[in-house]
Amino acid sequence: MGKMDTISEESPLASNRMAPMAPPLPGPTTSSYCQKGLVMNGSKLRGYSCVTTATKDLWERLFDEGYRADVTVKTDNGGVIHAHANIIGMASPVIRGMLKKSKGRGRQRSISIHGVPHNAVRVFIRFLYSSCYEKEEMEEYVMHLLVLSHAFVVPQLKKECVRHLEQGVITIENVIDIFQLALLCDAPRLSVICHRMVFRNFKAVSATEGWQAMKQSHPMLEKQLLQSLKYEDNRRKERIRKLNERQIYLQLYEAMEALVHICRDGCRTIGPHDKDFKTNPAPCHYEACKGLESLIRHFAGCKLRVRGGCGHCKRMWQLLELHSRLCANYDVCRVPLCR
Ligand SMILES: [Zn+2]
Ligand SMILES: [Zn+2]
Ligand SMILES: [Zn+2]
Repeated sequence: MGKMDTISEESPLASNRMAPMAPPLPGPTTSSYCQKGLVMNGSKLRGYSCVTTATKDLWERLFDEGYRADVTVKTDNGGVIHAHANIIGMASPVIRGMLKKSKGRGRQRSISIHGVPHNAVRVFIRFLYSSCYEKEEMEEYVMHLLVLSHAFVVPQLKKECVRHLEQGVITIENVIDIFQLALLCDAPRLSVICHRMVFRNFKAVSATEGWQAMKQSHPMLEKQLLQSLKYEDNRRKERIRKLNERQIYLQLYEAMEALVHICRDGCRTIGPHDKDFKTNPAPCHYEACKGLESLIRHFAGCKLRVRGGCGHCKRMWQLLELHSRLCANYDVCRVPLCR
């Protein structure tokens, strides 16, 4: 990512000024609909468009032919793009500011946009005219376009870039670059998506060139990132712990229910002394019943039976104790030792 020297005098990062306006639509207002892969005369047009094809073509031609252009945009390696002050100035408040400050002969003005490839600037300026771009150009220059759209406050293009990045351009190899870009360009959702990817693939990501480069150039960022990853990991562990706790609680709850059920109704071979086990028993709905049945059988026969003496009995004691603490119907309850 190159630096952008031209815009440093008017920090766009800090500029929260008026939102830029889209290029005015000529002639009768067309219905503004956004669609990808616009179809015209049966053939599919590539790219993206928010206006009808005729409108789009007119603005594209104005840009391509540079009819009565009054601004020269100088780019890297001596590149030059011709544009119209009233259009690019309307589309970007930052460019408007640059034009105001720029010197020139007569109505001719000249501004410079350096630090990104010439073609990226071209795609950017073209978008200011027609709100259009080619798919291939977006793929090639999306990172530069994101920086340009952020620096020159063109939210519509920024949204497109972020959308494009979010939809599958992020890989293990470039996630750190895109993450840094997202922070630089204030794209919170994109940075969250990157962060999630780093978290899930930490080992692979930390071995990439991108990570090593960040370590060199932004050691503080690496530190913060590591801290946030650790925090995320702790949160995940805490979530698992809570889930387990809940699981244990549920098991205990079920065991308590089953205990009351056995002592009250009896189940299969075990139950209150006045129960008639000869009649066909109704099917049991308590999941915990079977385990509890054998536990009670053991408890009844165990020689040790004292607290701490036997693991099974200890569990039984715990259940009985817990029950007696929680039981609301102790006057009619048939669980042993309830009262
Ligand atoms: Zn049962
Ligand atoms: Zn025992
Ligand atoms: Zn009870």
